[in-house]
Amino acid sequence: MTSLRDRTAWLEGGQAVCLQPPPEVRRTWRLVLLGPPGVGKGTQAEFLSRALGACPLSTGDVFRAAKGRAAPPGSAMAEAQKCMAHGDLVSDETVLALVRERDRCLHCKGGFMLDGFPRTVTQAVALDALLEAQRVRLDAAINYELPTSQVISRISGRRVCPGCKAVYHVTTRPPVRAGLCDHCGTKLVQRPDDTAESVAVRLEAYHAVTTPVADHYRAQGILVSIPANDEPAKIFAHTLDALATRFALA
Ligand code: AMP
Repeated sequence: MTSLRDRTAWLEGGQAVCLQPPPEVRRTWRLVLLGPPGVGKGTQAEFLSRALGACPLSTGDVFRAAKGRAAPPGSAMAEAQKCMAHGDLVSDETVLALVRERDRCLHCKGGFMLDGFPRTVTQAVALDALLEAQRVRLDAAINYELPTSQVISRISGRRVCPGCKAVYHVTTRPPVRAGLCDHCGTKLVQRPDDTAESVAVRLEAYHAVTTPVADHYRAQGILVSIPANDEPAKIFAHTLDALATRFALA
């Protein structure tokens, strides 16, 4: 698997359909990726997508994609974008409405990796119900663990491609040509919520409400913890090893 999955249905919602069908996969993986902002979930999602075929579904990307389309003032999406700009979490109600609108992505035969969702126990419980209604189950919740000081350094160096959403870091994962995406040549940007002030708010929100989400999956026996204080390729190798061990893959 070399190319990233087409995520049109996820990013646009509503009646939008993916232009490319999901790839043929040996196993349909359904995963949740957990960890503080900046831990590298987006990068791991990209690696895992290429290796396993599962589609990286980020709720943050849905909000960022909608930003370019100007939400009507006062609408749920406009409120969500305001929260996001301050680094605050968007309300459970809005996020869940958005995920429900895209529930067909959850039973896509190519599989999925949820990134940035669920972020609260309320969202995790709602996701359990949504998956149960569709008769599909999560294989694992992968929890990437990293000390706060390292999280801050990672976020401030992060650059993203507004075109294909590939993620880079100015020192640990630079593009081949400075400032330009390796995949599509688009000029890389820093996300507006990657500023120091936004990061502080996001980390506080993470510790207050997202840590219990890991406990939720631990109680279900599907939490897989991976130390994330290493190079992206090594973290990825540890992740594959952990999945292979857990699912006895050949
Ligand atoms: P991310 O790209 O996952 O870091 O998300 C960027 C921003 O989008 C977050 O700081 C929140 O404002 C918002 N967001 C994304 N996903 C969620 C979620 N599951 N619950 C609440 N807010 C979210």
